[in-house]
Amino acid sequence: MISMVVHGGAWDIPEDLIASHRDGVTRALRVGCAVLNDGGTAVDAVEAAIIIMEDDETFDAGRGSFINSAGDIEMDASIMNGENFRAGAIAAVSNVRNPITLARRIMEDSEHIVLVGMGAIRFAREHGVKTCGQDELITTRELDRWRKAQRRPNSSTRNAFRRKKVPVDTVGAVALDQYGNIASGTSSGGTPNKYPGRVGDSPLIGCGTYADNSVGGVSTTGWGEAMIKVVMAKTVIDLMDRNGNDPQKAASDGLKILERKAEGYGGIITLNNAGRVGIAYNTPRMVRAYMNSEMHQPIILV
Ligand code: ASP
Repeated sequence: MISMVVHGGAWDIPEDLIASHRDGVTRALRVGCAVLNDGGTAVDAVEAAIIIMEDDETFDAGRGSFINSAGDIEMDASIMNGENFRAGAIAAVSNVRNPITLARRIMEDSEHIVLVGMGAIRFAREHGVKTCGQDELITTRELDRWRKAQRRPNSSTRNAFRRKKVPVDTVGAVALDQYGNIASGTSSGGTPNKYPGRVGDSPLIGCGTYADNSVGGVSTTGWGEAMIKVVMAKTVIDLMDRNGNDPQKAASDGLKILERKAEGYGGIITLNNAGRVGIAYNTPRMVRAYMNSEMHQPIILV
């Protein structure tokens, strides 16, 4: 069995943005599944699928990322290989076109797991990962959002999340390859108008991303501060490990923990080690796409 699930955020996606979200996850899933079908690894598939969504300005990742209160883009990303527990992540990085590729290089070519800011950029230059100016990442849509936010200086993200008013367009993917290996990855521009230096759940192993071949893989999206409090991704893996590897129950139970303990909002995608999927969210919508080698057509839902 090969299997892949991707997400492109969980929030009250307005009607006029549904088509672009659906299109983005569809293309990401197609590319990821092609990698798996060609004999690529789960890590290859996760990276390839996330690159598609980072390059698609619909999403809050790579180009199109939200702008922080100082007017900069600072991106977070992580990837984990469930075969050997190796992981790579970047946080608060401004000048890289594809954060997931840099996270993968750190996983594979360094002895570290997380690099932040200028150190991460230095590593990118040394390892041939494409860097760029912020002008390549900032879109008109996000510049407009940022300008509006500057006119409302005291608006709290926390309250905005409670009112389900925050766009949550982080992207993620989980794959199972033909060799039985699971990988997960997540990439994000964080939350709109965040404080400079703020790091969300997406680059934190165990919060935004986790993979363990013996259980499954997870990627999350939502209010990062709440996700971090309940160590969301690893919590779902632990639930699945104890519930007979039922991915849907683990995702739903994980989300209940997020709600109960942290009053959090967001969504979770997971695969178990047999490639079965689990998806849960407590936002009005979540954009997600799933396919495995037993299916004729992917399932794409918003
Ligand atoms: N989880 C991300 C963060 O808090 C936001 C998102 O999922 O869109 O940084």
